[in-house]
Amino acid sequence: MNLIRDYRSDAATLATFEMRQAMANAEVGDDFSREDPTVNHLEEMSAKMFGKEAGLFVISCTMANQIAIMTSTHHGDEVLVGEESHIYNMETGGLAALAGVQTRSLRSSEGHFDFQDIQKSIRKRGLQVPMTKVLCLENTYDLNRGIPLSKEYISEVSLLAHKNDLLVYLDGARIFNAASALKVEPKILCKDIDIMQFSLCKGLSAPVGSVLLGTKDFIEKARRMRQRIGGGLAQAGHMAAAGVVALETMIDRIQDDNINAKNLAIGLANLNENIVNYEKTLTNIVQIDLKSVGKDAYYMSKDLEEHGIKIKVIDRETCRLVTHRGITAEDIEETINIIKNTIR
Ligand SMILES: *Cc1c(COP(=O)(O)O)cnc(C)c1O
Repeated sequence: MNLIRDYRSDAATLATFEMRQAMANAEVGDDFSREDPTVNHLEEMSAKMFGKEAGLFVISCTMANQIAIMTSTHHGDEVLVGEESHIYNMETGGLAALAGVQTRSLRSSEGHFDFQDIQKSIRKRGLQVPMTKVLCLENTYDLNRGIPLSKEYISEVSLLAHKNDLLVYLDGARIFNAASALKVEPKILCKDIDIMQFSLCKGLSAPVGSVLLGTKDFIEKARRMRQRIGGGLAQAGHMAAAGVVALETMIDRIQDDNINAKNLAIGLANLNENIVNYEKTLTNIVQIDLKSVGKDAYYMSKDLEEHGIKIKVIDRETCRLVTHRGITAEDIEETINIIKNTIR
């Protein structure tokens, strides 16, 4: 059998043996009554790790994002989102369909919103205007680029949002990649964030899950919203158990993914400096721009697939490779060689 190197997403990571054992052996109970000790443990350890009051285990980051906005807005409110963000582009219009809010998108430059843009987008209160309620951040930002947002930037935008009575929400699906790249403790990086979520199933390799974090009061309300959209689970501890192992064993190795992505980017830039900007490859996502080699990304992905390499096509000229636990330093060397032959 051909070795498959799956670079489409870090969600490709499989549960470890230890996770599977923990799932089988988990101590569980009825989570509707808050009697599942494993879920309670995962929620508490997550909250502590990020310096928040409370946590809520949910099935996916998408569900966490939707619950966060459903809980912190009323129908007809407005939320500010990044033009390249997951919550805006990749959740089947959930903010409109489920939360009933209007989105206002902000352009970014290298993942950073212009402060004047934010200020201009926050509406003055008035009888006829929607109320701007939440500023949505994402870290790392842009699922096709993985830009880490610094503590300083987050503090500054949060200050601006808070001055205007907005809540700051963070989609931190890949927050550990950001924290590792910036060499900052997750708790410090997210200090000014009011509500946030992180993924257990991307780099951390659990089979499912995300934990939503915020104040006790917010999480109580969020629990009702989770129930409303069918996200309440009976003995959820079997799944939470993998999340606990993920937090205990997978955070430190995230830095390897960032290093592997950097080496992949450097290797590809050595083939052709126009296809990858390795200086901007800061976490685990490498974007390839094929314009200068005149190769169609769809064809390239087909060619690579014949060599056991799976990538994500963004459009005809661009594609993305994501590193994760299933990709080793040797895989990176091999992949560079295979791509070298494909783009020749
Ligand atoms: C992957 C991802 C999500 C969605 O995660 P799921 O668990 O698949 O729903 C949300 N936000 C960002 C930034 C992501 O990268």
